[in-house]
Amino acid sequence: MSDVWADVLAIGSLAQNHYWHEKTPVRREYATATLVRSDDVVLVVDPGWPPDVLRAALYYRSGLEPAAVTHVFLTHFDPAHFGGIGLFAGAAWSMYEEEIRWAEAEAPAGDAGREVLARIGEAPEKFAPGVDLFPTFGHTPGHCSLLVYTAIQSLIVAGDAVLTRDHFERGDLGRRQWDLEKAKESFQDVLEIADLIVPGHDNLFVCRTPGGLL
Ligand SMILES: [Zn+2]
Repeated sequence: MSDVWADVLAIGSLAQNHYWHEKTPVRREYATATLVRSDDVVLVVDPGWPPDVLRAALYYRSGLEPAAVTHVFLTHFDPAHFGGIGLFAGAAWSMYEEEIRWAEAEAPAGDAGREVLARIGEAPEKFAPGVDLFPTFGHTPGHCSLLVYTAIQSLIVAGDAVLTRDHFERGDLGRRQWDLEKAKESFQDVLEIADLIVPGHDNLFVCRTPGGLL
């Protein structure tokens, strides 16, 4: 019996969603923030929403205060995925090693990004039993998802390996890929392993497809 829980804290959305017939960016873009708990580990993945939103979401979804969060993991280095990370100042912040190296070299998020990078360490292969890194390169060079085995299912917090349910159903990887071929492999990997998917910018959904979406 697994003692792992995963909960969506705040559902993300895209600045411009062409499935909603939007031709230009019409809103701020935020990633879906997810809470994963196992024994002593209280892990927030992709805290992109503003700190006040995350604070309320955390309390309303789990009864916890920010100080209870022990770890923060970023699927990749994008302000839409880390904008509220400062709320969790007492937690250990981490990202996949290759993503750290890439972000340090490219500095894709300006001064705010540099401050965050200065505090980020290399993520462990697993945060707890049943909470493992699941590398999904392609959207960025070191993009990495999280594979979570709860008592009854496998769940992947996919980051931007899967943008939204609409994108997934159509095999649409989005337009912003560092390496399209790698992104396709990652998409396929997620599809094959996950019972449930938390996409980068949408609510959790059930994955029940034999494949063939790409
Ligand atoms: Zn994103």
